[in-house]
Amino acid sequence: MAQVPALPKHYLSDKVEHFTESVIREMTRQAMQYGAINLAQGFPDFSAPAEIKRAAQQAIAEDVNQYAITWGAKNLRNAIARQMQEWQGIHVDPEKEIVVCCGSTEAMIATLLAVCNKGDEVVVFEPFYENYGPDSILSGAKPRFVSLRPPQAAGGEWTFDEQELREAFQHHTKAIILNTPNNPTGKVFSRKELELIRDLCVEYNVLAITDEIYEHILYDGAAHISIARLEGMRERTITINGLSKSYSVTGWRVGWAVAPSAITNAIRKVHDFLTVGAPAPLQEAGAAALGLPATYYRDLADKYRARRDHLIPALERTGFRCYRPQGAYYVMTDISGFGYKNDIEFAGYLVREIGIACVPGSSFYKHPKDGSQQVRFAFCKRPETLDEASQRLEKLTRT
Ligand code: GLN
Repeated sequence: MAQVPALPKHYLSDKVEHFTESVIREMTRQAMQYGAINLAQGFPDFSAPAEIKRAAQQAIAEDVNQYAITWGAKNLRNAIARQMQEWQGIHVDPEKEIVVCCGSTEAMIATLLAVCNKGDEVVVFEPFYENYGPDSILSGAKPRFVSLRPPQAAGGEWTFDEQELREAFQHHTKAIILNTPNNPTGKVFSRKELELIRDLCVEYNVLAITDEIYEHILYDGAAHISIARLEGMRERTITINGLSKSYSVTGWRVGWAVAPSAITNAIRKVHDFLTVGAPAPLQEAGAAALGLPATYYRDLADKYRARRDHLIPALERTGFRCYRPQGAYYVMTDISGFGYKNDIEFAGYLVREIGIACVPGSSFYKHPKDGSQQVRFAFCKRPETLDEASQRLEKLTRT
């Protein structure tokens, strides 16, 4: 991390003491510094679909260049409602139940700011996408982590303990954050697991805030189920999604939250004062993107499966134990075979000496030691990039 000169302590908010800068973004900076292949931050190094780029260019040319409606351009909200109906059978009122934000990142923090009070707790499965911790803290809540346990055998799944989850719901719990398909594990929560979470949400009167950004990136017959679709959940779920991963436009920063109208109103207020609105022309392009045919999504998932099956054997040949993902575009690996003290030392060696950036596993855990023998690789990259990474990996010998 960059060194900064000391400041009088009272200049800063206490809140920022409780979390660090993003390790994922830091690894991208290191990849640039060392000329390494960036398998750290999850963004594609290939082109976005031509038709949606054209739609964005056209919107700018047609002067869709001023603020969109604060809570989202009508065309995009209509397209989101249509897609949720079509894919998940969830009926959404685009006038009252959608807030378009600057990425799902903003949708998540705006939601937490809109629903949390000081003293509330938010349940988060661990390992977790690193934003959820700081998001909870900034909104005044305290995250309470529940372990996802790695598969014991090849082809197994990450699992959680029902009792541990139940216990976590009993501490002034406001919400559970659920990310499926999951970053970093690649777990896709099953209907049975979602029903269990639903039963706890109903019993303890808890909200579900779901991050479904990898909705269309699924492998080996895995199916994505939005928890809002389960009986008893529509009225207590905030479903978050966005353009970034489904359409390979992570830099556009267009995402959204879908929720019952009273919750939507609260999120709209927060969003309005945070950012006013997401980029107007890119929202129009988003409406076009959501109109792509079903074949587009099949092709997207097929290509990601090929990339997964490209990188994993190369990692395994080198000595990583891989937890094979069922969804999303990351692979968590166990590095204990290499004999390094910890993940930070290993990731530092990999980026400097081998020329590959990954994310140290500890950044996905509350206690760094829990992730100290894991690192995450992103495989949302061109075949040539993955070939080059495979070649570089050959230099990595077991110590
Ligand atoms: N979601 C991506 C990841 O986990 C990108 C995160 C980010 O930098 N916004 O790598």
